[in-house]
Amino acid sequence: MNDSKKLMYAGKAKDIYEAEDDDKVIVIFRDDITAGDGEKKANFQGKGNCNSLISSKLFEVLEENGIPTHYLDLIETGSVLSKKLQMIPLEVIARNIATGSLLKRFPFEKNQKLDPPIIQMDYKNDEYHDPMLNDEITIALGIATQEDLDEIRKITLKINNILSEFLKEKGILLVDFKLEFGKDSEGNIILGDEISPDTCRYWDIKTLETLDKDSFRQGQENVMDIYEQVCAMIVDEKDIERWEI
Ligand code: 5GP
Repeated sequence: MNDSKKLMYAGKAKDIYEAEDDDKVIVIFRDDITAGDGEKKANFQGKGNCNSLISSKLFEVLEENGIPTHYLDLIETGSVLSKKLQMIPLEVIARNIATGSLLKRFPFEKNQKLDPPIIQMDYKNDEYHDPMLNDEITIALGIATQEDLDEIRKITLKINNILSEFLKEKGILLVDFKLEFGKDSEGNIILGDEISPDTCRYWDIKTLETLDKDSFRQGQENVMDIYEQVCAMIVDEKDIERWEI
């Protein structure tokens, strides 16, 4: 389907193609997986398909709850029609539990509950290794305005509440996650990118087992089994059958 379409951007795990309409794009979820600034790489057959279904479901849940997102339609497994956005080069991270890089940088207690949640903004820039920002640096670099940042924080906290609640019902603890935002042609802040086990920490609510990309970061053998398990937990059974996952 994407043979005739023009590739606009190739990321580490997704490709963005032009769509028929100028104000839309087609996001293709690839099977590639990377960690540590892209230093560790692999390819797991079916990962892209799993992530496209998980992300579509979570974006649908957010839309139903009034969050403006770029999601329009799951065209086929692995392929999502989305609104074209001018992306803001920020990685907006929300944390409910202290783990990951937070423990390497600050004296938090391992697995300490963070209430209120911590919102952290990193500069999405491989050359500078995604450094943590503060508002002054973000504004001075021309990445976003104070109003943009206030709006992004407000939306991120809402998203955290909606997804934490939704995932809890599915047996998943939302530990932390990364979001990316962009602006539409009218300048509205819209949620873009994806929400999947590649971009979140999900723990089994009972056993606290890892159900996300940490399995790959830690060198576990069963990464794809985990992604399929999460897909089955989050996506409705009828959709898994329909999309032949
Ligand atoms: P940490 O800063 O602890 O490594 O990551 C916090 C959360 O944000 C995790 O859920 C992690 O998956 C996500 N995250 C942070 N940076 C990136 C990134 O560059 N790419 C992806 N896919 N996720 C990220």
